[in-house]
Amino acid sequence: MPLAPDAIIGRLAALYGMPIHTPHGDAVAELVLTILSQNTADTNSGRAFVQLMRRYPSWQAVAEAPLDELVATIQNGGLAQQKAPRIQAALRAVQERSPTWDLEFLRALDLEAARAWLRALPGVGPKTTACVLLFALGLPAMPVDTHVERVAKRLALIPATLTPEQAHDALEALVPPGDYYRFHMLLIKHGRRLCAARRPLCERCPLAPDCPASLLNPAPAAAQSSSKSSQSSKSSRTERERPPITGASTKASSSRGASRSASTRRPSSASTIADPASTRPKNDTTT
Ligand code: SF4
Repeated sequence: MPLAPDAIIGRLAALYGMPIHTPHGDAVAELVLTILSQNTADTNSGRAFVQLMRRYPSWQAVAEAPLDELVATIQNGGLAQQKAPRIQAALRAVQERSPTWDLEFLRALDLEAARAWLRALPGVGPKTTACVLLFALGLPAMPVDTHVERVAKRLALIPATLTPEQAHDALEALVPPGDYYRFHMLLIKHGRRLCAARRPLCERCPLAPDCPASLLNPAPAAAQSSSKSSQSSKSSRTERERPPITGASTKASSSRGASRSASTRRPSSASTIADPASTRPKNDTTT
């Protein structure tokens, strides 16, 4: 029988700390950041996001920028040739459908209607949609990135044969909506720190007694003793791994890191972009 989501949250929170959900309110910034983070380390997408914020005063300016210039601006984020036109297409579609750039109205919609609105934007899939709904608007949606999917499959929460889209639906059905944020953040952190793709450190993992995959990864003799030091370093490792997003009038910055939190002020004018260097702390997440 697989571990229940609340048991997983409890054990991982004891190791990493309990994530605190503070939706930042800037849905367009979240949309852009999530596109930038696709297939890229958070550090790099965070840098690209900051460069974008510094260069352009508004989302409209980003949407209308010469493509070559935008590619050069987000070069640090990787795959800039693909992401620049994707960002512009998404922003133009947002502007067409919501000329004020304010997506607050999504909160008032039925969740599935809000999801459908975002999914209708070009290049926006289930993960990007869930990131915008959860991290920006605080709505119950579960982003499932490669770390969440891998850890969930190793724990046998979902079948190993599921596609990423099926994994998304299965985990949303399995985890109570009120736990989406905690579950997402903790599994990402766990996937980065202990349950790595190539060599999971099962000997240090608090989920190991209930994890079928731990049987495939016997603990190295010397590794058991290092388990303690791993646990004791918990507080120093609760840094954010995701870029901070700030509202438009105050300027946004971001980097997906250890926590997608960020106390953020809502932009007074959604058409402008906030300055990254200003307010926000560093942040954590996915594509
Ligand atoms: S026991 Fe190993 S495979 Fe299972 S969740 Fe922990 S690190 Fe991952």
